[in-house]
Amino acid sequence: MSATLIRNCEAIVTATADPVLRGQDILCEGGAIRAIGAGLPAPDGADIINGAGLFVYPGLVNTHHHFFQCFVRNRADLDWTRYSVIEWLDRIYPIFSRLTEDCFYHASVVAMAELIKHGCTTAFDHQYCFPRHAGSRIIDRQFEAAELMGLRFHAGRGGNTLPQSEGSTIPDEMLETTDVFIADCARAIDAFHDPTPLSMRQVAVAPCQPVNCYRGTFVESVALARDKGVILHSHVGEGESPVIEQVHGMRTVAYCEELGFAGPNTFYAHGWELTREELTRMAATGTGLSHCPEPVYLVGAEITDIPAMEALGIRVGLGCDGAASNDNSNLMHAVHSSYMLQCLAASRRQDPVPTPSHFLSYATEGGAALLGRSDIGALRPGMAADLFAIDTRKLDYVGTRHDPVSLIAKVGIGTTVDLTMVNGRVLWRDGAFPHLDEAALMAAAEATLHTILSPTEEL
Ligand SMILES: [Zn+2]
Repeated sequence: MSATLIRNCEAIVTATADPVLRGQDILCEGGAIRAIGAGLPAPDGADIINGAGLFVYPGLVNTHHHFFQCFVRNRADLDWTRYSVIEWLDRIYPIFSRLTEDCFYHASVVAMAELIKHGCTTAFDHQYCFPRHAGSRIIDRQFEAAELMGLRFHAGRGGNTLPQSEGSTIPDEMLETTDVFIADCARAIDAFHDPTPLSMRQVAVAPCQPVNCYRGTFVESVALARDKGVILHSHVGEGESPVIEQVHGMRTVAYCEELGFAGPNTFYAHGWELTREELTRMAATGTGLSHCPEPVYLVGAEITDIPAMEALGIRVGLGCDGAASNDNSNLMHAVHSSYMLQCLAASRRQDPVPTPSHFLSYATEGGAALLGRSDIGALRPGMAADLFAIDTRKLDYVGTRHDPVSLIAKVGIGTTVDLTMVNGRVLWRDGAFPHLDEAALMAAAEATLHTILSPTEEL
């Protein structure tokens, strides 16, 4: 792989707590950052990028998504505000159960493209939808999509085991047995999980949520993740705690902790409804949380208590969540909206709202920590050459350029970024994917979408 030298950058944010570097270069080679400094010599054959006006940041790390839901966006007939949760589930699950293997592939391409355009370089997808007719290669096709797009990809192998007749919300055609789920998690780990530095492919064990799975599914997930040395993930604290309490005699955080589904190798998504006592338990076990701000707006949920999590030292990352509860796949937008959301709730909080720089750190170093990685999330020699850059020589940035760290969360970036690099490879530059035919990909994705749903279909 040839080297890339970004020369004389207007600003480099190496990590949110570090001093901003001005007028320096970044040399990337072999997938990693080789050096950061002034006047670096260019290796023979290096691609030279002029850093004039560029603010350069560590690539964003998305820690919770459901790529397949990209195929149900922008539909008034699936609007959360018009239906009860049960009515909404009754409308959306019939569509999910029609998805084919190709749908999962093309939806992954669509989501990854939007993520890359907005500065995301690593994404964790919680893929929990396995309609029986779609076969057993869905995770494989997601890795195929990641290979095509060049994104660093973590697959959360999800799944549901509890039937509706025993209290879940999942249609029978999307259920698996615990044995099938665990066996396919093991297969995916053996086939794709690479724990080495600069890994482009990892796998986590991620049963969908405690309310839709048997207790044994979670117990066996814990055993498998420990055996294979991979991360555990699930939805926790998104409205299900009263149901779990009724069935199991305790709320979800305590239930998960009792099953061993907690600890430094575990992170949950959402946590809207968690009490301070539950957050204290999570801090004590080292369990992390992926905060997805945009579903909080769309679903009208309680506002996640990020100030308390910060005060208690809980590891926090950010996620887009799926398009069923957030119609975009734009993590850059989530950095801004998460900050704004906490400001809205500030007067009701015991703890102060974290600064804008904290929210950028959640989307970079915080996300890396949730995924168990020390080689992404900051720009330092030896770490992955994952970054994005914005050209600030525009009217948009007048009056903001003195503080590149706060800019992302406080002002927000309203357009696509100008450069995204993953593992030293330029994936997105000056409004185009240099290695892809975007129009052809778009046509193929739309054609596949229309095999399951016409644009005007009324549900
Ligand atoms: Zn989710």
